[in-house]
Amino acid sequence: MRKKIIAGNWKMNKTFDEGMALVSELSNMVKDEYNGSAEVVIIPPFTHINAISRMVAEISNIQVGAQNCSNHASGAYTGEVSAAMIASCGAKYIIIGHSERRQYFNEHNDWLAKKVDAVLANNLTAIYCCGETLEEREANKHFEVLHAQVSEGLFHLTKEQFSNIVIAYEPVWAIGTGKTASTAQAQEVHAYIRNLVREKYGVDVANHLTIQYGGSVKADNAVELFSAPDIDGALVGGAALQSRSFVDIIKAMK
Ligand code: PEP
Repeated sequence: MRKKIIAGNWKMNKTFDEGMALVSELSNMVKDEYNGSAEVVIIPPFTHINAISRMVAEISNIQVGAQNCSNHASGAYTGEVSAAMIASCGAKYIIIGHSERRQYFNEHNDWLAKKVDAVLANNLTAIYCCGETLEEREANKHFEVLHAQVSEGLFHLTKEQFSNIVIAYEPVWAIGTGKTASTAQAQEVHAYIRNLVREKYGVDVANHLTIQYGGSVKADNAVELFSAPDIDGALVGGAALQSRSFVDIIKAMK
């Protein structure tokens, strides 16, 4: 059975104290209310990772991640944070290629491929994001765009390395907009991505690959989304900023 992962991407939200308060509530609620199979991943700003990793160290189904990392290992890159630094703070996951990084920081697939390498070189798992814009979907170009994002960002990896990859399908038109892809739309794309991976790496790698959906996931659409055969969890933005709404999404994954 493949791993189910519900990750909460806080983006640039929560001061340190606010973040600690949220994790304290969230971890108590997960302990008290959740006995399902999913792993929960908290993805705060860099500044909070070490403290949160310590807070959840004893809770086996909660892990911590980062929202980005440098493609360089170390050196004169002012303002950057390396994957090794993130690993040393206790994180296990790093998001690579979130649409906000692609859009506002001009990160392209070839650049992201190097970041994926940095993640894997530090024995962490990359949550590699892909997804089309509204314009691309309306022009019926979404499969073409997804093919390029997935193949150019990931297909230089070996079969062994691919076991440390999670893919998050996040249609740009559904992120932070309140518009969710229908379950049928998401399932169609997830099956397409899994098939691309099957063609490249074979059936075992494809069957073990966790593919998350992201884009306005809420407790009231999560149950239906998670019932689709190729949807293995969620990457959640806005609804991860409150413990109740995030835990209700987690509980939708049995
Ligand atoms: C995200 O940032 O990855 C995301 C899916 O955001 P939201 O849930 O707010 O749409």
